Amino acid sequence: EKKIVIVGAGEAGTRAAIELREQGWEGELTLVGDEPLHPYERPPLSKQQLSEEELPLPATILNAERMKELAIDFAAGDAAVRINREHKRVVLASGKELAYGKLLLATGSNPRMLAVPGDASGEMLYLRKHADAIAIRDCLRPGSRLAVIGGGFIGLEVAAGAIRRGCEATLIEVGPRILMRGVPEPIAAAVEARHREAGVRFHVGVGIASANRADGGYAIELADGTTVRADVIVAGIGAIPETALAEASGLAIENGIRVNERLQTSDPDIYAIGDCCSFPHPLFGGRRIRLESWRNAQDQGTHVATGLLGASEPYRSLPWFWSDQYELTLQVAGLSDPSDRIVLRDLGETGRIYFHLAGDGRLVCASGIGPSDGAIAREMKLAERLTERQPVIPAEELADPSRKL
Ligand code: FAD
Repeated sequence: EKKIVIVGAGEAGTRAAIELREQGWEGELTLVGDEPLHPYERPPLSKQQLSEEELPLPATILNAERMKELAIDFAAGDAAVRINREHKRVVLASGKELAYGKLLLATGSNPRMLAVPGDASGEMLYLRKHADAIAIRDCLRPGSRLAVIGGGFIGLEVAAGAIRRGCEATLIEVGPRILMRGVPEPIAAAVEARHREAGVRFHVGVGIASANRADGGYAIELADGTTVRADVIVAGIGAIPETALAEASGLAIENGIRVNERLQTSDPDIYAIGDCCSFPHPLFGGRRIRLESWRNAQDQGTHVATGLLGASEPYRSLPWFWSDQYELTLQVAGLSDPSDRIVLRDLGETGRIYFHLAGDGRLVCASGIGPSDGAIAREMKLAERLTERQPVIPAEELADPSRKL
């Protein structure tokens, strides 16, 4: 019983391991990771790792020394391939078997693959792991032409990085606008305008008819008859939760590994956290959601440690996401719905905050954009605190920048 095994040595799993020790767990603790590196941060992969002139080292979350100090057994470069729930054992690809009292799944997510007619599909690049960032970076030579498929955060950050490295960039988005998920239209418009100013070309609201090798590079034919030429194609069209291990062991799946408000799967001795799980959120009427966000991975890692040690508080942190593009930073705190009323708080040079009010007037989300070296982060911290309480505040008060948040 005195054994905890964590599968997935990413943001969530590693945070949970650290927290278990910080909260006094003295039993055996094993962290299983299928990547060869020590746990590292993913957000820099689409930012500094692409844009900086000198390749930065991976941003390690937990190095060998600290791992030793915390007495965490790290099975690196080994994948968990089977869970024997009856005998409470995890089988690794190396053949090793680990007994557990409690098991935590933090297997993350994988890029959604794009299939289009033509021989270029198999040669498109995706970004999830450190090795992917290196492969993309190698293609971003000054003057080379990058085509990004997908106008989500990762695709946009890759485009910004490519521009900084002296490449040409074209972004193709099939939806009616970029950043369709969770970002209000005016922020998406501001982000697109900044990219255009930097030289990125956009094809929005148009699908891809085919992508083929041509003249030593690629030719992407769009549904409207345009041809986009590129030397490298990066597809960023969303992520799929990694549930194979959970599914094969009969755990309930619903847009990821299904967990309850305490992050417990359908087997009470197995928990799941981070990108791989969906959970009911008490702040949003128990709506089941799955988040792909750094803060959520961290917060669930911290929270689940308490649960693994016997507490039974529901997880209720406000969803929070950020992205950096050029000199701009944008943040979203809360969950929005297309039917929300949107109220602008114009902070001048500091930036803008958009408050999202639900039908009953409750403040359910705040999204902000502004220069990263300005005061937008501080303002958004206050907006986040406010949103956590979901108050009903008259729109004119929220909009008035002379009233303190
Ligand atoms: P991961 O960090 O993906 O870790 C899961 C780990 O489990 C991986 O190492 C995986 O290989 C391993 N694994 C899977 N299956 C097995 C198995 N069977 N056995 C052993 N190991 C296994 N979020 C933000 O809020 N802001 C950002 O700016 C931002 N930028 C991002 C940029 C990029 C390029 C990416 C990819 C993500 C970004 N995110 C950002 C999202 C954030 O990084 C993720 O939400 C977070 O990493 C999720 O943590 P996780 O532990 O659930 O999954």
